[in-house]
Amino acid sequence: MSKSDIPVPERFLSEAYLTVIEQAESAQSCVFSVASLQMMQDIAAQGYPDEICGLLIGKADAQGWQVSEVRQVTNINEERAADRFQLDPSGYQAIDSELRGSGQEIIGVFHSHPDCPAKPSPTDLTNAWEGFVYPIVSVCQGQVAEVHCWVLTDDVQFGGKFQKLPHHT
Ligand SMILES: [Zn+2]
Repeated sequence: MSKSDIPVPERFLSEAYLTVIEQAESAQSCVFSVASLQMMQDIAAQGYPDEICGLLIGKADAQGWQVSEVRQVTNINEERAADRFQLDPSGYQAIDSELRGSGQEIIGVFHSHPDCPAKPSPTDLTNAWEGFVYPIVSVCQGQVAEVHCWVLTDDVQFGGKFQKLPHHT
C-alpha cells in the first residue's frame, strides 16, 4: 500500500493536529530488533479495527532507543476513536516489576491508528512522557500502512511538540 492510500480524516488537517508535530527529525534514532518490529506490526494488524497499545522493552541512551521486545497491553479505553488509547495500569506494572534487575526497562509505548495516518494526536501529546519513544502504527483495512516513531522535544514544558524519530532494524 502506498502512502497516498492512507485516508486522512478531516481532523488531521486541523490546527490542533498540525501543532503537535515538529517537522525536523531528531538526531537520535530508534533501533528495533527485527522480531520486535515485526511483532509490533502483527499486533497492530491483528487488533484491527480496534486500536491496540503496548510497551517497548529495551534500553535507552544518548544515541536513542534500542527495542529488543514488545508486549501488548490491554487498551482499557472503551471508545474506539483512532486518537484515544489508555494502557491498562496493571499490565504496565506487571511488566515493570518483571523487568527489575534484568538490565532491560520499559522505554516507550506503541499504539495503532486504524485507518488513520501514523501521526500523533493532541491527546497523544498530552499523555506522552519525556524520555519515552512513541511508535504509531497506521493500519488501513487490516494492513500495516506505515510506522512512525515520535519523541517529545526538550522544550515540552514550554509548549513542546512531538518530533519524528528515524527508526530502523
Ligand atoms: Zn494516537
